[in-house]
Amino acid sequence: MVQKITPRSVDDSAWYTDVVQAAELADYSPVRGCMVIRPYGYAIWENMQQYLDQRFKATRHQPAYFPVFIPQSFIQKEAEHIEGFAPQLAVVTHGGGEKLEEPLIVRPTSETIINAMYAKWIRSYRDLPVLYYQWCNVVRWEMRTRLFLRTMEFLWHEGHTAHATADEAMKEVMLILEIYRKLTEEEMAMPVIPGRKSESEKFAGADATWTIEAMMGNKWALQAGTSHFLGQHFAKVFNIQFLDETNQLQMVWQTSWAVTTRLIGALVMVHGDDQGLRLPPRLAPIQVVVVPIWKSDEERGQVMPVVERITGELGKHVRLHVDDRADLSPGFKFNDWELRGVPLRLELGPKDVQKGQAVLARRDLPAKQNKSTVMLDALVPEVQRLLADIQSNLFNQALRFREENTFYPATYDELGKAVAKGFAVAYWCGSAECEKKMIEETKATIRCIPMQQDGKAGHCIVCGGEAKEKAVFARSF
Ligand SMILES: [Zn+2]
Repeated sequence: MVQKITPRSVDDSAWYTDVVQAAELADYSPVRGCMVIRPYGYAIWENMQQYLDQRFKATRHQPAYFPVFIPQSFIQKEAEHIEGFAPQLAVVTHGGGEKLEEPLIVRPTSETIINAMYAKWIRSYRDLPVLYYQWCNVVRWEMRTRLFLRTMEFLWHEGHTAHATADEAMKEVMLILEIYRKLTEEEMAMPVIPGRKSESEKFAGADATWTIEAMMGNKWALQAGTSHFLGQHFAKVFNIQFLDETNQLQMVWQTSWAVTTRLIGALVMVHGDDQGLRLPPRLAPIQVVVVPIWKSDEERGQVMPVVERITGELGKHVRLHVDDRADLSPGFKFNDWELRGVPLRLELGPKDVQKGQAVLARRDLPAKQNKSTVMLDALVPEVQRLLADIQSNLFNQALRFREENTFYPATYDELGKAVAKGFAVAYWCGSAECEKKMIEETKATIRCIPMQQDGKAGHCIVCGGEAKEKAVFARSF
């Protein structure tokens, strides 16, 4: 049954949970803190995976798989890393009915175990670069569950690379960030701001972290993907050395990077409305839903053969589904597929069949502006044209929303007001004291220092001191 959805204006958080559950993307699990990803949600994830796999492989990365259990001593080897992850670790102390000699950590991320293997495999400059990634689950202890956004276990890929030089590793960080930017902007239709994290926000054990940050429908920020320059931290700890061309022993330079199932939550929050999901066509498990309309068996006999003919042809070009459930009214079906965010609905009744046409309804536009009629012999190109238009329209709507809710405060007082309403862009001197003061007083954080800067110097919005770069300030998930 179609569930009642809390209006977004009433309670954004309740709206989000209602949509995720009613659209059958995910559900709460019997284990507190964990979630069950249902087939419709998983199908979106599969589409993201396919896109990324193609890009990773086209840039010479190779998938592999490393164990879910990590010896506790591995995690403890890197001080910053353990400090960053300690409160979130799940520890296995017993196995096979006996207490383990050394506890095992359920992976929160795999730097340590992968680098232990790299130390064994990497010998010479000829072995480099090593460009591996894996699709897997990770566990970080968490009780305040929000489906997709904050769960104890989630799915991701994690890339771990080793290079001969810092320069090569830095190029890798940027290559991956650009793949993530394309995934989010071109596939998810979600505009992002690529930039660098502040020292306090960077990954535990990284020299620097690059991120893409997106504005959600409640005007908060969400970190959509990260690409870390690890320098030689892990190389030193795990002793990953190689002989260079001149037979000198060198340490490798490394990166790691990830996006997670959190992105599905972002997709909901960026595009959803009070009717439910709105999915960008490129990632939608169903791009076109066909709803045949009839009242009698005679009408059914007229409509269904035409449905079969056109879907046979259209199905070669788009992911489609025919909703021929006999016991439900067309109106119910319309609502049901709107809730699930299917980008385009094709309606076909007996009168349409007589005229050789069909009605198309877009999910991205408001009711009454969203319908058009198409002649059946022009159906395939028209559907393709509309799907492309929906994809770019969703991006443009999200971009306009971000622009309308981005402010450029001139004083610290204005900054506080700006971050309560959306993103604030202002100069920051780079000091941790200013950052800390701002976090405590405004509840916002520095989301990133955007890569795109105008090159002009200015004055820190917090202390008034000299500043070379602008930062994005916002509240975040
Ligand atoms: Zn300052």
